Amino acid sequence: CGIVGYVGDRDCADVLVDALSKLEYRGYDSAGIAVVEKGVIKVEKCKGRLANLVDKMAVDGKPQGHCGIGHTRWATHGEPSDINSHPHGNKRVSIVHNGIIENYKQIKDFLIEEGYSFVSETDTETVAKLLDYYYVDDPVDTIIKVLSEIKGSYALGIMFRDYPDTVFAVRKECPLIVGVGENENFLASDVPAIIKYTRDYYLLEANEIAVVKKDSVQIYDMHKEPVHKEINTADWDV
Ligand code: GLU
Repeated sequence: CGIVGYVGDRDCADVLVDALSKLEYRGYDSAGIAVVEKGVIKVEKCKGRLANLVDKMAVDGKPQGHCGIGHTRWATHGEPSDINSHPHGNKRVSIVHNGIIENYKQIKDFLIEEGYSFVSETDTETVAKLLDYYYVDDPVDTIIKVLSEIKGSYALGIMFRDYPDTVFAVRKECPLIVGVGENENFLASDVPAIIKYTRDYYLLEANEIAVVKKDSVQIYDMHKEPVHKEINTADWDV
């Protein structure tokens, strides 16, 4: 299972699939990506190997854009299927998730009361819909509110339609790094996913929220205070 993200000038779908292929060693049963194409979040996902996703995109048309998130899934809640594959969300918000949301059932029941409907059996979809429920103009505020309610382990890549050139990221008990390039930035579960593009990266600590754009990476804590971090440099060869 793994998470990747990209913001920059390259063909986003190509970078996401390439980076996910470097995480295949972690094991997975499904794969998917979300890319902002002309202001719309386009999702492509399916059960099975990454090659199946590539084949599917050859038929559907590969999403064209420069900002996106990708996922390989190791199912914990809901069988491996096209519907349970990530990304999850709706027109306004899309997320990829590794880990387990322990209190997803309570959140799901609450959101159903509030009029939300669910298409998958995953714990992840509840986080996507909770982000939608708490959505306010500032995505960092929205994410902080959701983090204060979810329990469990997570690495999350998040996109909002209203912020079509930004990827948001947060983690707890699951790995996630932010790769720093020149005029492009990355998200990944592990360095090998992005080392072809950059050796520089930030290690996110628990509940630090990364706001990743093409030419900037800002990191905030749960009080929305900016966090200043040292850049790490991978000095090994792959
Ligand atoms: N719990 C989530 C699911 O079953 C994420 C699994 C993963 O880490 O890939 O969909």
